[in-house]
Amino acid sequence: MTLIDETSTIPAGGPTLEQVRRVVTELPGPKSAAILARKADAVAAGVAHSMPVSVVAAGGGVVVDADGNSLIDLGSGIAVTSVGNAHPKVAAAVAAQAAQFTHTCFMVSPYESYVDVAEALNRLTPGDFAKKTALFNSGAEAVENAIKIARKHTGRQAVVAFDHGYHGRTNLTMALTAKSMPYKAGFGPFAPEVYRVPGSYPYRDGLTGAEAAKRAITLIEKQIGADSLAAVIIEPIQGEGGFIVPADGFLDAVVAWCRDNGVVFIADEVQTGFARTGAMFASEIFGIEPDLITTAKGIAAGLPLAGVTGRAEIMDSAHAGGLGGTYGGNPIACAAALAAIDAFENDGLVERAQQIGALLTERLDAIRANDPRLGDIRGHGAMIAVEFVDAETGAPDAALTAAVAKACVAEGVIILTCGTFGNVIRFLPPLSIGDDLLNEGIDVLAAALERA
Ligand SMILES: *Cc1c(COP(=O)(O)O)cnc(C)c1O
Repeated sequence: MTLIDETSTIPAGGPTLEQVRRVVTELPGPKSAAILARKADAVAAGVAHSMPVSVVAAGGGVVVDADGNSLIDLGSGIAVTSVGNAHPKVAAAVAAQAAQFTHTCFMVSPYESYVDVAEALNRLTPGDFAKKTALFNSGAEAVENAIKIARKHTGRQAVVAFDHGYHGRTNLTMALTAKSMPYKAGFGPFAPEVYRVPGSYPYRDGLTGAEAAKRAITLIEKQIGADSLAAVIIEPIQGEGGFIVPADGFLDAVVAWCRDNGVVFIADEVQTGFARTGAMFASEIFGIEPDLITTAKGIAAGLPLAGVTGRAEIMDSAHAGGLGGTYGGNPIACAAALAAIDAFENDGLVERAQQIGALLTERLDAIRANDPRLGDIRGHGAMIAVEFVDAETGAPDAALTAAVAKACVAEGVIILTCGTFGNVIRFLPPLSIGDDLLNEGIDVLAAALERA
């Protein structure tokens, strides 16, 4: 293990870290390579990695590895370090809480910071009605609990999820997740009473929001029956599935149908939440008020924390002792969340996400003007993606996507891919990144595309 001391050459993380792209070795360099070799021996093969590095510091818009390579961060650890890595307020709050107490179990002896986080979530999530919150450790755990609550509230069992949806890797959330490889293959049997219907994917289905909603609702009514249905769960903008933005009118039609039929509408905002999309929650962009919202990723700047927030009468339907977990709402994670929420609200991060979205979209549109392999550019705020296609046929081009991502990685840009067809590059930069690094990251991508 590496500890930072006075004589260490390892830089401190956070916003004071030098904001440059600097590749001083091949990736991985020798120090990272040695650690990755130990990883291969010690860590289960199923836990993969996309960047061939071992990280020692991160902050602002860069991640620094053991060999001194400084990489442009266009991933935020998958939309987690939105306020910036090692944010000074978060680091201070974590250190102070760790010195105070590290755990009591909220179900045994409660503490104020959990209540503070619950109040903040009740206030910040869309919907001008009485709300309550319960805290957990991961996005998947939040989704599992939202389904538990919806089933208890309705006395019904069936749950509807959507094509291209991603909700996690636990048993119930694997069932909700659409994509087999790598998330589900070989891991069944999956939880029963989960049904999948098509959503809205304007670039590929060509349907209006109303048409796509009608298609989904007809399938639900004919194949499941509203009387059997506890909940409909959807990501307002689908994340792992390819940053798919539904056509206008789709989500509100589904919400209205749920309301008419006593079905709990759950927005999975684990990836889209907390300023990521240029709104505090993506539901606001579509003008919807979900009954329940699941949150995680951006909520606590990397500390494990997740929440289910929603209508008080639904949240309260689970009996005392029916919800919880040993670590859920851990005090250090809550301290980090309160510091992160302070930054989201007071450091202009919603506006910053909008600026990042405008910059990325403008740059990518300019590239697409001369390159028809960029089939679609979509997203909101600091959640933007490009779908790569064969210029002749429009078929998904996963090989091109992988080649471009690999070239970016080799040149020191952290790039993530996604999409059911593996043909989407997604941009999820920390909101603390500067315009110069964003532009440089896109320059590297453009050069990689020209060579590919
Ligand atoms: C990442 C993600 C999850 C799962 O969160 P974990 O913390 O990895 O369990 C669930 N839903 C969505 C939309 C996600 O992006």
